Amino acid sequence: MTLTQHSQKPCQDDLQNFGDKPEQVRDTDHYQQEYVEDFTDRWDRLIDWKARSEAEGDFYIRILREHGARSVLDVATGTGFHSVSLLKEGFDVISADGSPNMLARAFQNARDHGQLLRTAQADWRFLNRDIHGEFDAVICLGNSFTHLFREHDRRKALAEYYAVLKHNGILILDHRNYDRLLDQGVAIRSGKGNVYCGKDVNVSPEHVDEGLARLQYSFSDGSTYHLNMFPLRQSYVNRLMTEVGFQKITSFGDYLPGHQDPDFYVHVAEKE
Ligand code: SAM
Repeated sequence: MTLTQHSQKPCQDDLQNFGDKPEQVRDTDHYQQEYVEDFTDRWDRLIDWKARSEAEGDFYIRILREHGARSVLDVATGTGFHSVSLLKEGFDVISADGSPNMLARAFQNARDHGQLLRTAQADWRFLNRDIHGEFDAVICLGNSFTHLFREHDRRKALAEYYAVLKHNGILILDHRNYDRLLDQGVAIRSGKGNVYCGKDVNVSPEHVDEGLARLQYSFSDGSTYHLNMFPLRQSYVNRLMTEVGFQKITSFGDYLPGHQDPDFYVHVAEKE
């Protein structure tokens, strides 16, 4: 397993670069440029760890324990919220992400919480190149899977998650309710919901079509950032997971079974 310990933040250009036509940026690799250091620094104000952990309760811990999971690969570590929560609960966690900025922040956050993160920089499309070993569970949370723009990339990433799972392992993957966004468009004013809980940030959709959801994140200090994401319809994600080989998929809306119009969907996909 390739593990990197991050004690210092990497230097990187601090401006997001979407060029002259931001709505034409529909590129899976672009996430690397979107999580610039300044945005990474503000990410925790966006998600607000305390409010998020109140919103989630023990939902993920319960699911992992119900499936007998001990080892967890967090493939979208971000600033470390779930990795740190799971470490505190005694799970054996490896924390991966494609963004060195995010991993550096996560490592620091974990240290502030008295935890040592075992990190690995890895892109989902080539996960098995950098992560060796098998896990009881893979988690891909916080609306991360939406960064993949090509269907081929989504299939490849899911297949890579499938491959690192043990027999009877589970993948837990969430995404924003894009059906609502696609059907109602930018008329939806707030995109925060129960994952992005921070009070000093406003999240609003700037552009939505079947191939792009561009969201704006405005912070109270006047700074503004954007993420360009692929709007995943719920039924499409279910179908892809099945086609890649997951045998059973249970979907939740805002952490409840059968919720019809939630802010976020969570899918638990089983490898039997
Ligand atoms: N899970 C965290 C949370 O809930 O706060 C972070 C969510 S953030 C929206 C998405 C994360 O996915 C970022 O840290 C980004 O670097 C990572 N990411 C996006 N595309 C990726 C890819 N192709 N391979 C690996 N990581 C990727």
